[in-house]
Amino acid sequence: MSKKIAILPGDGIGIEIVAEAVKLLNVLKQNGLDIELHEAPVGGAGYDAAGKPLPDETLALVKQCDAILLGAVGGPQYESLPRELRPERGLLGLRAELELFANLRPAILYPQLAAASSLKAEVVAGLDIMIVRELTGGIYFGEPRGIRELDNGEREGFNTLVYRESEVDRIARVAFDIAMKRGKKLCSVDKANVLEVSELWRERVEKVGGEYSEVELSHMYVDNAAMQLVKWPKQFDVMVTKNMFGDILSDAAAMLTGSIGMLPSASLDANSKGMYEPIHGSAPDIAGKGVANPLATILSVAMMLRYSLNQPAEAQQIEDAVGRVLDKGLRTPDIMAEGCAEVGTEAMGDAVLEML
Ligand code: NAD
Repeated sequence: MSKKIAILPGDGIGIEIVAEAVKLLNVLKQNGLDIELHEAPVGGAGYDAAGKPLPDETLALVKQCDAILLGAVGGPQYESLPRELRPERGLLGLRAELELFANLRPAILYPQLAAASSLKAEVVAGLDIMIVRELTGGIYFGEPRGIRELDNGEREGFNTLVYRESEVDRIARVAFDIAMKRGKKLCSVDKANVLEVSELWRERVEKVGGEYSEVELSHMYVDNAAMQLVKWPKQFDVMVTKNMFGDILSDAAAMLTGSIGMLPSASLDANSKGMYEPIHGSAPDIAGKGVANPLATILSVAMMLRYSLNQPAEAQQIEDAVGRVLDKGLRTPDIMAEGCAEVGTEAMGDAVLEML
């Protein structure tokens, strides 16, 4: 049966970069990949089309699909809207409605782009880390939360960091499964020296690890993990961590690579249905100019093939094609370097197709 893919370009450069990814998906389809593509509005485009950032029809569509490709949402024209109508609400709604609890954030640095990093080339060249972040639990969602007044009139803010065993087990399984498909090394990041939640986290990760004897499991406190990420990031293969730690560490890891225009991401549910998107936003400063880097979105398609459509060989082909385009010296302005040829969004997308 053919797999259904929802295409949600969103706003700003989302429209331009998703168009390149759709060209690629159509070529894969012509070559025998059994997929159907269905486009729908989300974010500001959802508000323009149906008065809300996650229109009912879009939600109904994504629920029926096996995978979702999202561009980016947001733009200055929507910033004065009430909070519940802002484009970002469309994204949060998708994550919550689809129970996308596992966020996969690779930090990959193609050797050809090593000079783009703020770290020394030998520290980062060839970097390939996968950070698995728990996305629907932890302190961002824990109750009770709020700001209250104490007896002496002073106010106090409070949030709750809470994880159930089942929540830890399911994210640990995702991380171990991914480690099995990669270098078979998993580092679980916590703060077990201070937090009871982390003590339980560590215990459950160990327990799930019992089912994966081939994976080498290690544990690291989050403060040390932050330090090690900038000291010698290539020591890591897969990292798994709570929502807030993952939020911070994955952004730090992304910056090791120097360009947000290159990094894909995935958010998965318990059945490997996933939403795939570049980590960057809608870049209103360059929207409509035809200069946005489409590679993060194209690499998101590769992740979709690997994690939701079970086509690892095709995924690898796309990643290799991107590498060869970089070898050829083609660069969008955000990754431009001396001696290279500057190209726009469309030409970059076409070059990847040609390499395929
Ligand atoms: P941004 O990621 O859109 O842009 C940051 C900078 O990176 C800009 O200078 C931009 O031109 C550049 N950039 C981003 N993607 C690029 C690409 N593919 N190629 C070349 N350059 C690229 O972040 P921002 O400016 O803080 O936010 C802009 C809008 O995007 C806001 O409305 C924000 O809320 C939204 N946003 C959406 C998402 C999402 O949809 N997942 C994520 C972050 C921000």
